Amino acid sequence: MKKIKEGVYFIPGQDEMIPDSHVYVIGNILSGDLSIIDAGLMGKGGYKIREILNAGIDLSSIKRIIMTHTHLDHIGCLPEIIEKVPDAEIWMHISEAESIEQGDERTVYGMPMFQEMCQAQYGLKQGAFKLEVNRKLEGGETLEIGGMVWEVIHIPGHSQGCIALYEPSERILIPGDVVYADYAIGRFDLHGASGPELKKSLLRLGELDVDILLPGHNRIVEKVETGYILETAKQWAPYLV
Ligand SMILES: [Zn+2]
Ligand SMILES: [Zn+2]
Repeated sequence: MKKIKEGVYFIPGQDEMIPDSHVYVIGNILSGDLSIIDAGLMGKGGYKIREILNAGIDLSSIKRIIMTHTHLDHIGCLPEIIEKVPDAEIWMHISEAESIEQGDERTVYGMPMFQEMCQAQYGLKQGAFKLEVNRKLEGGETLEIGGMVWEVIHIPGHSQGCIALYEPSERILIPGDVVYADYAIGRFDLHGASGPELKKSLLRLGELDVDILLPGHNRIVEKVETGYILETAKQWAPYLV
């Protein structure tokens, strides 16, 4: 677990054939009120829990798991993590929360062919990710958690219920799969995705002052250039129609 800033920790994903999302742990350790952001791919929960334990964190201080969105590479090992922190709440955007509660996994797999492949390869059953969501976020909330303040921003386009978490004092952005380092963005061809929505979301993120970019995959950026997200939005705009 790498310390990015006081109250912000990074556990890199371990990609297989399918990517495994990064996990961030947010909250001041001494607050005893920590949040895990995203889970990862199937089988990738164990090492993440071990990294948290190795950092000297008592699992009882993990109060919630906040999902940036519910694609398989983020939610795959959520059941494994819940097993280790059974009292933690699950928070996510309302538009994906309702599907998850109903066992509608079209967003989880993104497309039917991928669903068949993963169910065969990983022995996943229909409804494997059906669970109760404790808090349904809508965007616009200010979360006072772990002795920090994080703003929730709804940024659909990569999927319907994508959210970003933004910490304004240190200018830290956790955008899930919406924007990555190196002018890359999330794909916009899966269930619930939309190019025009993604463009709007990128422009919305482009309004923020961001120094530290902590995406769901690939490189993290600890010194973001001014205007980086807006420039990324501009480069992609012709394709997001
Ligand atoms: Zn995704
Ligand atoms: Zn992802």
